[in-house]
Amino acid sequence: MALQAAGKPFGTVFTPAMLTASYAPQDGWGGAVLQPRGALRLDPATMALHYGQTAFEGLMAYRQPDGRLAFFRARDYASRLIHSCSRMAIPPILETHSIELWRQFARHELPHLPESSDFALYLRPLVFGCDAAFGDRPSTCYQLLVQGVVVDLAERARQRPLEVLITDQFVRAAPSGVGAAKVPGNYGAAMLARQAARDAGCDQVLWLDAGRRRWVEELGSMNVAFVISEVLVTPPLTDTILAGVTRQTVLTLAAEAGLEFEERPIALEEITAAMSWKGLTEAIGCGTAAGLVSIGAFHIGERRLSLPAATPVADRLRGLLRDHQGGRIEDSRGWLTAV
Ligand SMILES: *Cc1c(COP(=O)(O)O)cnc(C)c1O
Repeated sequence: MALQAAGKPFGTVFTPAMLTASYAPQDGWGGAVLQPRGALRLDPATMALHYGQTAFEGLMAYRQPDGRLAFFRARDYASRLIHSCSRMAIPPILETHSIELWRQFARHELPHLPESSDFALYLRPLVFGCDAAFGDRPSTCYQLLVQGVVVDLAERARQRPLEVLITDQFVRAAPSGVGAAKVPGNYGAAMLARQAARDAGCDQVLWLDAGRRRWVEELGSMNVAFVISEVLVTPPLTDTILAGVTRQTVLTLAAEAGLEFEERPIALEEITAAMSWKGLTEAIGCGTAAGLVSIGAFHIGERRLSLPAATPVADRLRGLLRDHQGGRIEDSRGWLTAV
């Protein structure tokens, strides 16, 4: 039976199963099991809980015109999981193995996804160190957990523009740290900033570089781009920015649509200056879970700088992105993987 997901917030409509697999030094990764989703039995000293040696992914499978399901850019998410694991000294799962396990899970959960292309399946693979001991060293055993939620894409498309707090009080990532890895610790470390944003009546924070607090890096847990003088501009990838698959896709689609784009450092003062002379017409956050979201206003100190309500570039890119995800445009790049 398909789950009732219409109008439900992202991340709340879980499909009924989960997939687990494990790693032991002598066996490598293996032992995948599909089982009913439920509470885990973990030793209270499980190292991941104490020391955060953990990495995760978030990818989506979309309905295709023939009703079948396909992952969008699965290989890119699988290779990023390898990168994140490597950064955390976690033995990585081969790209092909990850995709096979995701496919096994998604096939199993398919009956619970509504048939309309307005719904998608979001997969959340999570890897964590599961030795039970106090000790500051990499774990020897690891677990993989894959679970999924049904996402109402139509509901998501109705989200209102974001109010964004700009502050130099917090830092997300420092050079040579873990900013370019998808790890829970980055999120945990950002919760206080998230709370400050909420207290200021905002939805998200705009992250600035750790050194001078001058260069724009990310938007909450999304990548960020601006439209300045009709050029789509986004910061170049460094080791303090998470290499978003959506970011990469959006740049490719911008080029395809004949939109000029630049990957270059963007200083905060460039943003505020371009807003004052109205050269900055759009600001966009992008990520797998949120899609493409427009920014409605920036809050800096007591000032609220608002952006135009019309978002033609974001609308265009969002439409193109959905067309590619939903297989409504020929998949010339091999972005879709049949579930
Ligand atoms: C996941 C994530 C993104 C977006 O990446 P996608 O591959 O587009 O989902 C951006 N920034 C951070 C910090 C993230 O964790």
